[in-house]
Amino acid sequence: MILRARTILPVSQPPIENGAVVLSGNRIRAVGSWPDLKLAAHGKIVDLGEVILLPGLINAHCHLDYTDMAGALPPPKTFTDWIPLITAAKAAWSYSEYAHSWLHGAHMLLKTGTTTVADIEAMPDLLPEVWDATPLRVISFLEMTGIRARRDPKEILREAVVNIDSLPHARCCAALSPHAPYSTRPELLRLTAGLARKRNLRICTHLAESAEEFEMFMHARGKMFDWLKRNERDNTDCGLGSPVRHLARHQMLGKNLIAVHVNLLAHGDARLLGQHGVHVVHCPRSHAYFHHPPFLRKRLTNAGVNLCLGTDSLATTRKIGRQNPGLNMFDEMRQFADSDKTVSPAEIIQMATVNGARALGLAGRAGELARNAAADLIAIPSGGKIADAQEAVLAHVGNVSASMIDGRWAMPPGG
Ligand SMILES: [Zn+2]
Repeated sequence: MILRARTILPVSQPPIENGAVVLSGNRIRAVGSWPDLKLAAHGKIVDLGEVILLPGLINAHCHLDYTDMAGALPPPKTFTDWIPLITAAKAAWSYSEYAHSWLHGAHMLLKTGTTTVADIEAMPDLLPEVWDATPLRVISFLEMTGIRARRDPKEILREAVVNIDSLPHARCCAALSPHAPYSTRPELLRLTAGLARKRNLRICTHLAESAEEFEMFMHARGKMFDWLKRNERDNTDCGLGSPVRHLARHQMLGKNLIAVHVNLLAHGDARLLGQHGVHVVHCPRSHAYFHHPPFLRKRLTNAGVNLCLGTDSLATTRKIGRQNPGLNMFDEMRQFADSDKTVSPAEIIQMATVNGARALGLAGRAGELARNAAADLIAIPSGGKIADAQEAVLAHVGNVSASMIDGRWAMPPGG
């Protein structure tokens, strides 16, 4: 099949005017100009017309199962105030509510151009049924928490591993997610890091998200420290340095680690993350919901850290007036552009595509239109100039006009 479009935005090379992408099965065979490719290629021609054709977006952090909590939790005063709110909301839900919520979120992402999502699973029992029910590529990070002595970290990890091994799937896969430094015991971090290295698995964790978490690890004090102490966390791992240092101490830093948020850095933290090849995910709307200090993009990029974008969950996304928000990577890209006037549209698009692919171990296979990459593409309407293609992507509102995943139309053009 040959897809023709007014503008092709391959991301890993400059935009192409009057371009074409040649597909064979579920792979991209060639990307170039229409006059060049039409002579060599054969097969069905699909002219997408006045669109920008670009790689499907990679949402590097999401909690699909919280989608239907949209608008339910008004922004709290502090992050620590939010933890009991989400815990109570979760406890009140049934299995079928979680399943509905997960699929609702997957549908929102699909319509708005995400083709790959790194999702945190609080309810692993939903898998693999929900995987089968969506065309998205899903990397499901199985959430592990436990701060009390009676919850043995070995047992928590063993349970996750049994789940991973019981979930073979052609398009989706599972990996490990110790929830955060404050919600886990150090032994779980060490065991997870060791196992992930041995089995070549990705790890995802929330890191240095709030000022209270930072204060807890740096100085063994503050609202989160006190609250967790009251909840039987032993807290002897606090007062020894930043949350990043905490992960370093427990051998968690590495190329397979995806650290989400990283909103607060101590001196030397960015360098440490860069040296170890850790990937960082920024979630712009969740960031705004909690009023975190400005995201330290420059410090992290200068240290060589690979930065990606994610939606986080709708439980931490503000309402728009009285309307509930939706999961939408275009909205995240726009929010980021609004909050950081020094970041270029091209950089933001890279964070939502190639950088996310690198973080998830999909470099060269997703997040770009390139020879041998998977046929994961989306189209958005645009009749503008090629020089404005990146701005046009950032300005896009609403659903995409077409989406293909693994060589099949997930949303057919004109459909
Ligand atoms: Zn999260």
